[in-house]
Amino acid sequence: MAKCPHCKKPVRLGKEAAPSDSQPVRKEVAGTVKKEVMYSCPHCDCVLGFSFFIGGVLMGRP
Ligand SMILES: [Zn+2]
Repeated sequence: MAKCPHCKKPVRLGKEAAPSDSQPVRKEVAGTVKKEVMYSCPHCDCVLGFSFFIGGVLMGRP
C-alpha cells in the first residue's frame, strides 16, 4: 500500500485491488504525442509526481 508523503493517507496506482478507504491516484494526461502525466493525491491534492512518455502514433497506444 502506497501512502501519500504529505497527508499519509493510503493511495493506490492503477487498478490493483485495494481496501475501500483508499482512492486511486488522480492521473491527468496532457499532450497528444508527448504525453505528460501528473499524479496527484486524491485526499490532499498534493502533486505526487510527474512522468511522461511518447504515445500516439509512434507507440500505438493512446
Ligand atoms: Zn495526500
